[in-house]
Amino acid sequence: MKADPVAQLTLLDVQTADAKADQLRHQLANLPELARIAELTAERTELDNATRDVRIKVDDLSVEQRQVDAEVEQVKARRTRDQQRLEAGQVTKPADIERMQHEMVSLERRIAKLEDDELEVMQQVEDAQAELTELTARVTNIDVELESLAKSRDEKAGVLEQQLADQVSDRTGLIADMPAELLALYERLRAAKGGVGAAMLRARRCEGCMLTLDNAELAQIKQKPADEVLRCEECQRILIRTDESGL
Ligand SMILES: [Zn+2]
Repeated sequence: MKADPVAQLTLLDVQTADAKADQLRHQLANLPELARIAELTAERTELDNATRDVRIKVDDLSVEQRQVDAEVEQVKARRTRDQQRLEAGQVTKPADIERMQHEMVSLERRIAKLEDDELEVMQQVEDAQAELTELTARVTNIDVELESLAKSRDEKAGVLEQQLADQVSDRTGLIADMPAELLALYERLRAAKGGVGAAMLRARRCEGCMLTLDNAELAQIKQKPADEVLRCEECQRILIRTDESGL
């Protein structure tokens, strides 16, 4: 392939601009905030799930609490009714009186048992609510940190995006007069070879693969016309001659 030596030299500037742009894209994709945001977002999802579970628990316990409350009231009402009937002298037969007194003793035991249950459920409601408060506080802390991270991420990204836009614009200027064939070869090599498609031959060394060319290769290169597009025999990249090539 032949290409104007000036275009070949410009290709090195394109390569530099592309390398800078790649670096900026890498920085953008790897902002330290992003890892922390992902970590916190995952943690927040877990906390949301835990919060939902505890809310269900609080609701269930509240239902249970109301049921126990209602049952206590019901048994107490029955005790009061029995008490009133006895006091009003409505029960007269000794056997009936004795039966009712037995019943009242068992009602007392039932009430005591239900009141214990009531206390236990109340304690469970209290524990679940404390858990809910703690989870809510943790979610709030995460949200505050996420907000601050997002702000910092956006600020850094804004600066990097501007720098990237500048690089892209510089590159557009550089490739304006670039022969299409040379540019296509460069792009293909750049994609295949870790972002470096063209390298300078500097002090007898290919700056793409960092290998020094031997005398035979250098002798061959010296004979090539200036508009010949050279390729590094080792890494296949476009090799560009400059005053610093050591030829
Ligand atoms: Zn090379």
